Amino acid sequence: MSMGTGARARFEAIRDVTSRTPRKIELPADENGRPLKISEYFGTNTFDIHQMREKLPKEVYSKLFSTIQTGKKLDQEIANTVAHAIKEWALERGATHFCHWFQPQTGLTAEKHDAFISFDEHSRVIEKFSGSQLIQSEPDASSFPSGGMRTTFEARGYTAWDPSSPVFITEATNGKTLCVPSVFISYHGDALDEKTALIRSMEVLSQKVCELLHLIGDTGVKRIVPTLGVEQEYFLIDRAFTSLRPDLTMSGRTLVGGQPPKGQQLEDHYFGSIPARAQAFMSEMELELYKLGVPVKTRHNEVAPSQFETAPIFEEANVATDHNQIVMEVLRQVALRHNFSALMHEKPFAGVNGSGKHNNWSMMIAASSPDLDGENLLDPGKTPHQNLRFLLVLAGVLKGVHKHAGLLRAGIASSGNDHRLGANEAPPAIISVFLGDLLNRILNEIEAGAGRDKNVEAAVLKLGISKLPEVMKDNTDRNRTSPFAFTGNKFEFRAVGSSASTAFPVTLVNSAVADGFSELTAALTQKCGGSKVTEAAVLEVVRDAIAETKAIRFEGNNYSEEWVKEAEKRGLLNLRKTPEALAQLMAPKSVQMLTSMGIFSEAEVHSRFHVRTERYIKNVLIELDTLRLMADTQILPACYAYHGALASAVAAAKAAGVAAPQAETLGKLGTLISSLQIKRQQLEAAAQKVESLGSEEDKAKCLSRDVAEAMLEVRKLSDELESMVADDYWPLPKYREMLFLS
Ligand code: ADP
Ligand code: MG
Repeated sequence: MSMGTGARARFEAIRDVTSRTPRKIELPADENGRPLKISEYFGTNTFDIHQMREKLPKEVYSKLFSTIQTGKKLDQEIANTVAHAIKEWALERGATHFCHWFQPQTGLTAEKHDAFISFDEHSRVIEKFSGSQLIQSEPDASSFPSGGMRTTFEARGYTAWDPSSPVFITEATNGKTLCVPSVFISYHGDALDEKTALIRSMEVLSQKVCELLHLIGDTGVKRIVPTLGVEQEYFLIDRAFTSLRPDLTMSGRTLVGGQPPKGQQLEDHYFGSIPARAQAFMSEMELELYKLGVPVKTRHNEVAPSQFETAPIFEEANVATDHNQIVMEVLRQVALRHNFSALMHEKPFAGVNGSGKHNNWSMMIAASSPDLDGENLLDPGKTPHQNLRFLLVLAGVLKGVHKHAGLLRAGIASSGNDHRLGANEAPPAIISVFLGDLLNRILNEIEAGAGRDKNVEAAVLKLGISKLPEVMKDNTDRNRTSPFAFTGNKFEFRAVGSSASTAFPVTLVNSAVADGFSELTAALTQKCGGSKVTEAAVLEVVRDAIAETKAIRFEGNNYSEEWVKEAEKRGLLNLRKTPEALAQLMAPKSVQMLTSMGIFSEAEVHSRFHVRTERYIKNVLIELDTLRLMADTQILPACYAYHGALASAVAAAKAAGVAAPQAETLGKLGTLISSLQIKRQQLEAAAQKVESLGSEEDKAKCLSRDVAEAMLEVRKLSDELESMVADDYWPLPKYREMLFLS
């Protein structure tokens, strides 16, 4: 048989990939060639609060620090001094430009660069960076999604420095840029970005927790900060392969691709030795991140072949959010240098695990100085008072998640995450809380014991609180299937998708939990009617919360079919697809909570809903168009070519008067090709149906059902044909090649 030409590029890619060697870089060293320790170059490209203290006059520094602590706007007077120090630092490091770096509602970051240059009074060029340039900028940002907000209010928006997140310098091949982390708001102060609401939610949470803690006697607590450690999963696939896959380059996931004989069933990749090229990539990525002050700590192979994870040491939630954006950006860029594409889509490959972004979340009593550690409120602690406080804080979290489970589900909704939630390796779309055996038993005992025993306090102290410090050590008991799991001294929100910005989900967790605390404060105030709050009263409030939130607690296997049934019996929401999940954002309960606490205005909630619905529609339409294109220009032509070759061979055999055994394959192939053509037409019909619909919501629903189904049908046939068409006719890199060759 003659060589098919369809696979030539694929074979060349295989040759390129298998002949690559790990990329070597020059590691940081001193003038004598001694390699530097991480601590010696960590944060060299950031100007953080410690450096501010060194470089700024004492009173300016203390004003800046209190601005950061209280979340208020920096006063113009000290802004010039701060800007000058930042400029000197940036110029010394070779930065020529600066930008306000912000997070519009695209899930990504945005920046517009300005050179430091300006004319002085003699028309000479000088470097200049004023306080007002530091504090505020006006990008012509009318092309960012606003969900209709700026047509209602004002066409333009401005960015404002968020001094709680350190400025940093990015290094491109031929220049360096100073980046000023900023929020992006309209002239009327409407949040046009992801960060503004996150910062608001942090303030509200702090206020609600402080109120409650003051009630129980912790009157010295002035401020609380949510803490966040973001685990980032991703795939590394060679660019020679991804560049031959329109689906990966356009939509970030494979829309077709037959299962390889070996997937992840041998469990040989997870925590295995890191492949040499991947390791070289990780070292370079970490080097870049350390310079930017991102404290990445852990790296390992994940479950699926070619899947990896990086995780940092936790930080305050808004800084951790910025840092995760930087991690994703650096991951993408450094991967390219190593001839990899870093895939952060939630489900790039069917049949093997998808990628998540586990959000480890807790709350900390803010320390009075940047050099001190705060006290973790989800740490069971050492004294009876700390234990009681822990139970109360836990009750607040349970109440928030219980009451706003639908909203939390909305916060993680995206076209990518739809393929992961509910597939049998990721937390399901049903939001529940896992506490671990010991803590779960303690809560059950508090609930039951309180009913049996009049002396609540004694009962609980006997049954529960004395055991609490052991909860911390109870780390053997890790449920990997829960979407929201307590892991000793923090919660792990695992249902967040790998490509998501953490800002929105974390904003919603902060808000939901703040609402829980607010209810606890009201209950406790009511119970004690103005007199001193007793331990017994606190325990009663905790017990009520335990009873009320019972439905949300689940300790079993979240992947099982039984849980789906059980959750339904309990009345929990199971929102499998983005359109139904996003609808929760508009539910009166959600809007009421978010607006009453001042996290979002009503217009801002609506805008989030519209922006997210629109993004969902666009993403699925891109997938749809890509699949059409691949079917018409790659898959069907390859099938026709092989069909033609077989047909010629059969004709030749018949002409020669010999048997034509290919005829059987030819017949089967013909049938499959016809079926694919029919499914391809049905895809067209589904696409037309979407177009005919009026509202965005209807379009989204139709895409999530009819179009998703039609795409899957095309895929099934394509994958079957892939396993039948001669290998040298198939133009698309196969799963076995992309996932296993490097
Ligand atoms: P594991 O969950 O595998 O036991 P770790 O306990 O080290 O691993 O934590 C995983 C992530 O959780 C890390 O990013 C870590 O910094 C973060 N983390 C630990 N403690 C907290 C906390 N109090 N608040 C937020 N994140 C935390
Ligand atoms: Mg993990």
